[in-house]
Amino acid sequence: MKSLVLEKKDELSLRDFPAIDREEDVLGPLDVRIKLHTVGICGSDIHYYTHGRIGHFVVNEPMILGHEASGTVIETGAGVKSVKVGDRVCMEPGIPDPNSKATRLGIYNVDPAVRFWATPPVHGILRPTCVHPEAFTFKLPDAVSFAEAAMVEPLAVGVHAATKARIKPGDIAVVMGAGPIGLVTVLSALAAGCARVFVSDLSDKKLEIAESLNPAITGVNAVTGDLVARVMKETDGWGADVVFEATGSPKAAAQIFQPLAPGGCVVMIGGQPDPISYDAGAAMVREARVENIFRYAHVFPRCVAMLASGAIDVKPLITRTFDFEESVRAFEVAASAPPADVKMQIVMPS
Ligand SMILES: [Zn+2]
Repeated sequence: MKSLVLEKKDELSLRDFPAIDREEDVLGPLDVRIKLHTVGICGSDIHYYTHGRIGHFVVNEPMILGHEASGTVIETGAGVKSVKVGDRVCMEPGIPDPNSKATRLGIYNVDPAVRFWATPPVHGILRPTCVHPEAFTFKLPDAVSFAEAAMVEPLAVGVHAATKARIKPGDIAVVMGAGPIGLVTVLSALAAGCARVFVSDLSDKKLEIAESLNPAITGVNAVTGDLVARVMKETDGWGADVVFEATGSPKAAAQIFQPLAPGGCVVMIGGQPDPISYDAGAAMVREARVENIFRYAHVFPRCVAMLASGAIDVKPLITRTFDFEESVRAFEVAASAPPADVKMQIVMPS
């Protein structure tokens, strides 16, 4: 039974990884064993592949990739109550220390001790099975496919961002960036009640995909489209109630307050590897509220519920699916960032 292993920067292989069985796959009383079904390829997986590191997380030893996953429960610990063998599930990949101060405060995602799949030295789940705490494993209704369930992880980022923004029905939002995280943020903003969402990107193809998702979405090319002028024109000079930064680009962040209405909220989503500057004066004259998010907390059940009810449809974002045997090629394709693709997924052997 093979795993997809990042041996080192630029080198992937499909091979047995017996250490996993010995060290990490002991089933505790509150754990479940899961047979993986579908795994999404995330920007972070690609970044480890092409750069060997993200910030201070460095791949020093071979590491299994993947953290966006769904599967089937094949074994449960003695104390597990919420799922049973045969249940289809999706999994939240970050496991905090249950007794940490952050966890007790309800902000477990910022627990410094959190162990997150495919973040060195923790292995990911592009492997046959894994052991995971029941508390971070969520049963899927029949209406949610394995492919959709593997989208819950990225969707959770958008839902967490929309939650932090405290969107009200009828709000106007701007999302900078139409990559996978930008698009799930657009969908989350609409599900939270936005009347309209403007989304900007450098790629017209990405904007075309964004606009195809919902008539309330307007794409604006970040170079040729003058986002600020467009938003001002269509809001009678008032601006957007919420602006989400989902590019990670210092250039976008520098202008983040320009399209924002007085009293509005900016949510920083995009990862910023280096310190960036933004216009504090522009924030001040608007009394802007600025929120930062780190992954998500307490939103997986909401995401599953919205996929089940149809309040959010992520299916159009899944643009390519590979068999596990082709996963090295899948990563090569994903690393080349084809403009017409949003999310690529890998289906594990049955
Ligand atoms: Zn991800």
